[in-house]
Amino acid sequence: MIIGLTGGIGSGKSTVAKIFQHLGVPVFIADEESKRILDTDPILQNRLQNLLGKDLIKAGVIDKVYMAQKIFSDESLLQEVNALLHPLVGIAFKHWALQQHNAPYVMREAAILFESSTYKDCDKIVVVTAPESLRLERVMRRSNLSAEAVKARMKKQWPQERKDAMADYLVDNSGEKSLIKQVIAIHENIISGTK
Ligand code: ADP
Repeated sequence: MIIGLTGGIGSGKSTVAKIFQHLGVPVFIADEESKRILDTDPILQNRLQNLLGKDLIKAGVIDKVYMAQKIFSDESLLQEVNALLHPLVGIAFKHWALQQHNAPYVMREAAILFESSTYKDCDKIVVVTAPESLRLERVMRRSNLSAEAVKARMKKQWPQERKDAMADYLVDNSGEKSLIKQVIAIHENIISGTK
């Protein structure tokens, strides 16, 4: 069984993913896998350099800050990069999931689980939610970005409410409820459904 995990930027997806991992759930983090592929796939690196310019690669390594600046300021470039990268992440996920056959379920964490249609490959979806002002504050602190830069990234994603409406399980990370208790309840519910 595949459980998707998503939420708006700064909602607390990564934090929630870590709690599931502590419970023993294998979690595939799409962002980490994307970075690994970007660092190790020379064919992809070459294609991206053709798309984004020769400055993309410095000393044999993709400059991710340069890449983010390019793709977050140009929607068509973002889509072209996604079209190159996403299929590779999808293949990596399938390989990884096959190795986790002893687990009752695996989790796939992705910021753009809905936007990329990856949710269609998931049996159930967990959405982490928090108010926009709080998400903005958390991301500015975490990533040292300006409010404008964070808002620009938020605009590239579906609104949080649209994600919430598609959740099988909603995790409230407004700071008022225990994250750990909510995650344990969801975990137990998923496990009981797999027996
Ligand atoms: P996402 O992966 O959805 O972008 P993160 O899990 O990285 O979000 O959370 C964004 C930032 O907010 C991180 O620095 C994280 O430590 C912090 N954070 C997340 N949840 C809480 C919370 N309940 N209370 C305080 N800080 C939090």
